[in-house]
Amino acid sequence: MKHFFNVKFLATTFLLCGLACSSSDSKTSSFDTPTTFFSTMTQMTIEIAYEPGAEPYTGNAPAIVGGKPLWDFVKDNLAALFEGRSTAVAITVPTTLEEMQAIPDQSKETFSSDAILAIATTYRKGKSSAAEGNFFMVFLDGYYEENGAKNDSVIGVSISGTTVLAMFKPVILSTSGGAAAVPKFVELTTAIHELGHALGLVNNGITMAASHQDTDHGKHCNNDQCVMYYLNEGAADLKTFVTQILTTGNTIVYDTNCLNDARGFKP
Ligand SMILES: [Zn+2]
Ligand SMILES: [Zn+2]
Repeated sequence: MKHFFNVKFLATTFLLCGLACSSSDSKTSSFDTPTTFFSTMTQMTIEIAYEPGAEPYTGNAPAIVGGKPLWDFVKDNLAALFEGRSTAVAITVPTTLEEMQAIPDQSKETFSSDAILAIATTYRKGKSSAAEGNFFMVFLDGYYEENGAKNDSVIGVSISGTTVLAMFKPVILSTSGGAAAVPKFVELTTAIHELGHALGLVNNGITMAASHQDTDHGKHCNNDQCVMYYLNEGAADLKTFVTQILTTGNTIVYDTNCLNDARGFKP
């Protein structure tokens, strides 16, 4: 029974903007879970793939948030998690469409966790080892399928127990209409939130340095100013969070507790 629950736990899917978790068969290999390479990796690589019509935003960020390539925002936040290590972690995040992988139209309106894992199996190029953590993130022109039904409010998912993530572009696009940078930063902060879950935040594989898990809401942080806060899940709240970033120019969106968890974790 214990084993059964563990397997179920590993298969839990973290949803950004979702209200429930979903399960699927997890397809794990020895280096598929970050705890197996978390303290030994010297390279972390994010692979990004996209369907036609679901291209990630590229180009540069507004000056207030640094004016750098948009995806450097993700890279800088990941780098903050590993700050202070005696052996530095080099981080590779593609910043142009040319550095990302165009995959064929999957001709689907909804994608279950299994369907997402199948796409990763087909198109992923790298794999994780003790020295390298490899994460595969696919941008889909469709919606998350949860328990057989379309969920049109899920922005992104991290399939737990794996290093596979998916982003649902129509939901990201639904946040446009205000400032041009808002949907771009909804996309980027969602990527940062889901990569946080994939790595093991909050209390999702990475041990907490201090207690800050919002246990009522799963593997989330109790600080509403942190990207790992559960309400930075609904499109409306995430827009508020993103607007704050774009106003203050604060570019590291994990809070001190989440940063300390990652910096102090040595499995
Ligand atoms: Zn979450
Ligand atoms: Zn936090």
